[in-house]
Amino acid sequence: MKRLRDDDACPGALQVHQAADGALARLRLPGGMIAARQLEALAHTAVEFGNGTLELTARGNLQLRGVRDTTAVADASAAAGLLPSPTHERVRNIVASPLSGRVGGVADVRPWVTELDLAIQADAELARLPGRFLFGLDDGRGDISGLAADAGVHVHADGVAVLLAGRDTGVRVAPGDAVPTLITIARRFVEIRGTAWRVAELDDPSPLLAGFSPTAVPGAEYPPVLRPPVGWIAQDDGRVTLGGAIPLGVLQSRQAEFVAAIDAPVIVTPWRSLLVCDLDEGVADTALRVLAPMGLVFDENSPWLDISACVGSPGCEKSRADVRAEAARVALEDDTRLPRGHAHYVGCERACGSPPAGQVFVATAEGFRPASR
Ligand code: SF4
Repeated sequence: MKRLRDDDACPGALQVHQAADGALARLRLPGGMIAARQLEALAHTAVEFGNGTLELTARGNLQLRGVRDTTAVADASAAAGLLPSPTHERVRNIVASPLSGRVGGVADVRPWVTELDLAIQADAELARLPGRFLFGLDDGRGDISGLAADAGVHVHADGVAVLLAGRDTGVRVAPGDAVPTLITIARRFVEIRGTAWRVAELDDPSPLLAGFSPTAVPGAEYPPVLRPPVGWIAQDDGRVTLGGAIPLGVLQSRQAEFVAAIDAPVIVTPWRSLLVCDLDEGVADTALRVLAPMGLVFDENSPWLDISACVGSPGCEKSRADVRAEAARVALEDDTRLPRGHAHYVGCERACGSPPAGQVFVATAEGFRPASR
């Protein structure tokens, strides 16, 4: 369904969203990657100018709520190196296989994240992309392609598949052409999109791949992955990644500071979890003992892995309920109510942040009811 509004309200760090609980500033993290010092800086910024938390988004970004001084947040983000392009800040939407280059996968797509990010920033036309337009880089393990990014690539042993809206187009390109192909698609989308915000909203997406010839059978889609990798994850190089889910995606500043203190690369995943990477076993063991009691979830049997929520009341004026409180109550007290698979709680029919599969529960005057999907 096409949206008729022609202004792009997707928030960034410079164009913030005015929510019921104050301004909301969103920082794009291509590939979810953030350095320890950057995470520490954001944690301090959230305490000083926001509500003291960092929210993890379903695209592996971070956002601050209840911002009292938007200029100060933008300045602090820029000083931390998290705002490299004011003109393109809202269009650096890149999700990538979070464990790529460390555990499994057909290829290491981390260099493509950097290459794609720089190519987006270098292209003036791409500043006109909608803030919702998403690039996806799946290293072959099948964790990202199910997110149905607008323009994606999926690495196979014999070539790189080009995906539009999560669907294999049948086009195959060489690894070195993956990023240029995505840039071509994005430029063409800017030209033809009309009132469409996403590729899936185009009546005819074929111009996006004009000149590319399919060499494989098109149409394949990938099942969405709904759970993050958690716990002790052995890397291929003998080191360790710790995967910690963040209940309802709300990271307290103090938790963020302790994660940053490990001084290791951090990745925010599209499943509202953190990966703390490249740890020696001793460091990983100590970190696990510190972070688990603080509320990071390393247990793959935890109900927190299967439950999410929109912000609800009081953060959103459209909400009919304190959605997070209900989701937490179900997770903590009433896990017999959890359906098989993922449950997402929302305060109104807009169903923000709904995952691509699972059950959505919508607040009503009488309580929460399952939504049809
Ligand atoms: S689903 Fe409704 S209540 Fe929840 S954040 Fe979106 S608009 Fe607000």
